[in-house]
Amino acid sequence: MTETVLVLGGGQAGAQAAASLRQEGFGGRILLIGAEPLLPYQRPPLSKAFLAGELPRERLLIKPEAFYRQADIEPMLGVAATALDVQARHLSLDDGRRLAFDRLLLATGGRPRPLDCPGADHSRLHYLRTVADVEHLRRHFHTGARLVIIGAGYIGLEVAAVAAKHGLRVTVLEAAPRALARVTSPEVSAFFQRIHTEAGVEIRCNTGVVRIEGTADLARVITGDGAGLDADLVLAGIGLLPNVELAQSAGIACDNGILVDELGNTSAAGILAAGDCANHPNAIYGCRFRLESVHNAIEQAKTAAATMAGKRKPYAQVPWFWSDQYDIKLQTAGINRGYDSVVVRGDPATRSFAVFYLLGERLLAVDAINRPAEFIAARTLIPRRAAVDATRLADDAVPVKDLLA
Ligand SMILES: Cc1cc2nc3c(=O)[nH]c(=O)nc-3n(C[C@H](O)[C@H](O)[C@H](O)COP(=O)(O)OP(=O)(O)OC[C@H]3O[C@@H](n4cnc5c(N)ncnc54)[C@H](O)[C@@H]3O)c2cc1C
Repeated sequence: MTETVLVLGGGQAGAQAAASLRQEGFGGRILLIGAEPLLPYQRPPLSKAFLAGELPRERLLIKPEAFYRQADIEPMLGVAATALDVQARHLSLDDGRRLAFDRLLLATGGRPRPLDCPGADHSRLHYLRTVADVEHLRRHFHTGARLVIIGAGYIGLEVAAVAAKHGLRVTVLEAAPRALARVTSPEVSAFFQRIHTEAGVEIRCNTGVVRIEGTADLARVITGDGAGLDADLVLAGIGLLPNVELAQSAGIACDNGILVDELGNTSAAGILAAGDCANHPNAIYGCRFRLESVHNAIEQAKTAAATMAGKRKPYAQVPWFWSDQYDIKLQTAGINRGYDSVVVRGDPATRSFAVFYLLGERLLAVDAINRPAEFIAARTLIPRRAAVDATRLADDAVPVKDLLA
């Protein structure tokens, strides 16, 4: 009998898993189910070139429509799964259909964490996760418009950069003492705060939002210190909630994401998970992570597809991530959690430097700012777990290739 694999979630991980299943030789039926009406598309440009109007919508697609036809992958778009029966092995959809499966991949991603304060339903308050979100946001993206961004994380700062270039008047409110506090060091935070300030963006740290007031056309953002900021547009970029509810209510183990093993298996036989929704063990770091990055979504999907095709390709990757702001490309390799020292190579004033994160003599991660060679070197050094020489790392005169010796 023909086997059926359901891939739930038409995002980066879902698209990759469907394609990789065919590459791994799976000859059964593949259904790719997605709540959004579009074929799987890349999200990173949503806060960069697509928001800036420099990339047409068609160029966002991960694979063209013809690919799915040729690979015999059946997309089912604009339909959401509402219930999962692990024992009976079927998935219920919001259009009343019930799909039987042999194996199921949960690639349900996440949704923006909602702002939790009075006035959070204001019509000028936006989030950024989907093409539809960008299209709403763009309606008010005009020169001179006042934009208040809540949260100085990557998405907030990328939007700030695009908006500043478009002549909007941008204020970023951050509850923590510095921008990017959850993900990077004070050195890198200070650098990004400086380049935004130079571009005319005002960043207010230690500033929480207590409520949003105003009329339908104008929001007034009230902060903890009693100040009020008028805004034509408000964007909240305060993190992501993984979409785990379907798995959770089906009895699948979850803890900050759907728990998977190194092959992508969840606690339920024949059900796997990958991407932003999955919490996986990382052999290089010896602990669990739930990551939100394209590289992670792609690589976990490849692992899960191999498992579903009866092969064994354990996930053991150095995570990496990038962010584009103005003329700056930040590339991060590894996870800096638990570092006890930093080594700075190069001069932040030149807009080209790298910050290495060490635990003892072991390299955990790097933030490379306009420094692709250091980024690539770190991806080689991190999994070696060998001792690195901090003095040589810091010395810009030592060629990067010699750091690998
Ligand atoms: C604005 C923005 C900028 C980013 N920039 C970068 C970057 O520069 N670099 C980087 O590495 N990463 C970046 N990311 C993160 C990256 O895009 C994500 O990590 C990646 O998209 C995760 O892929 P995924 O398939 O796990 O989830 P998603 O892409 O979120 O896809 C999940 C899909 O599942 C669907 N779904 C959920 N539940 C159901 C259901 N019950 N039924 C049917 N469908 C369902 C959702 O509608 C969604 O379409 C960015 C993300 C955003 C939003």
